[in-house]
Amino acid sequence: MSVAGKAIPLSVPEFGGNEWKYVKECLDTGWVSSVGPLVDRFERELAAYVGAAYSVAVVNGTAALHIALLVAGVEPEDEVLVSTLSFIAPANAIRYVGAWPVFMDAEAHYWQMDPEKAIDFLEKECCWRKGRLEDKVTKRRVRAIVPVHILGHPCDMSPIVRAARKYNLVVIEDASESLGAKYKGKNVGRLGDIACFSFNGNKIITSGGGGMIVTDNEGWARKARYLTTQAKDDPVEFIHNEIGYNYRLTNIQAALGVAQLERLDEFIEKKRVIAQVYRAALSDLSGIAPMPSAPDVEPIYWLYTVLLSERTTLERRKGVLRDLIEKGIDARPLWHTIHDLPPYRNSRAFRIENSPRLYEGAISLPSSVGITEEQVRQCALALQECAAKRFSTQ
Ligand SMILES: *Cc1c(COP(=O)(O)O)cnc(C)c1O
Repeated sequence: MSVAGKAIPLSVPEFGGNEWKYVKECLDTGWVSSVGPLVDRFERELAAYVGAAYSVAVVNGTAALHIALLVAGVEPEDEVLVSTLSFIAPANAIRYVGAWPVFMDAEAHYWQMDPEKAIDFLEKECCWRKGRLEDKVTKRRVRAIVPVHILGHPCDMSPIVRAARKYNLVVIEDASESLGAKYKGKNVGRLGDIACFSFNGNKIITSGGGGMIVTDNEGWARKARYLTTQAKDDPVEFIHNEIGYNYRLTNIQAALGVAQLERLDEFIEKKRVIAQVYRAALSDLSGIAPMPSAPDVEPIYWLYTVLLSERTTLERRKGVLRDLIEKGIDARPLWHTIHDLPPYRNSRAFRIENSPRLYEGAISLPSSVGITEEQVRQCALALQECAAKRFSTQ
């Protein structure tokens, strides 16, 4: 049975292009491992798509974040601002380098990192000491900010970047869920100093597993390539002057990536149609708010996500989700806020007010590129029924 064997899956890949052809090329030529023409091509074409000068392909998006933090100069005991309403990968990557996350809230309208609160944190909780920005409470250096563009919608980057310049912070975009999205006409991945993408199986394009670092900083790109290939300092002898990582993408994975990238615009178009159909089917329903989109962005609707009404509770949302899954509709919640998960319970978290309610009330609906409009309507109807049932009882 295919992975799409579930009645209506959440987000499964679509392989109808040149995937077989390029994978066959790998096997026919023997270029299967962590170097090869398709790795180079995937890097070149992804960079061109995003509009970045340099790109380095890696094994997954989490590794991309790890390396981006290292090359951006984040050091052990530094602090890094990051969204609490996110998949956990960026917080983990911050810990991999020995730094500490400071969790930021989501703003209520578009669910992305709240720039006002981030600025508030920098203004009120930090101070300059001996030329470095310091957290007044922990005395740690605040070094970087990682806005996570969740669900295919960009963060409000202008105020974030302005604050980062003022406070000398590096901006590392986690664009894993938002390849192809635009903010004020500019591509996600071009909005900060360095950015990371993921090509995990459920992302808008997939290489099975994979990730990419993009930046305009040549030195950082070179360093990223060096660190992801075991920090090899001599082409022949095994000389390594630093501790490196085995993080390079394989040519076989890149084969999938290149083929998928050829269809990215088509996939985005389909995601937008899916969003439109959901919006039309769910409009006028009291108790279910459709997915928001800021006026100056072009989201890619990676996962179409709705928010249950103010009257919802975590238990009710869980009930709706259970009912949907029982009907064969593979919906899922947003991520649990990271700051109150066990590994991060003692971390700094600044005025987290909106994120918990978003976690408690949101449901992501099936959004595969291959889903039919009829199936989307079926999901919307099922959601309506399940919500009505759970909200009619106390
Ligand atoms: C998918 C994802 C990642 C990276 O995931 P990998 O599985 O390591 O490729 C990072 N951040 C966010 C927000 C993600 O959704």
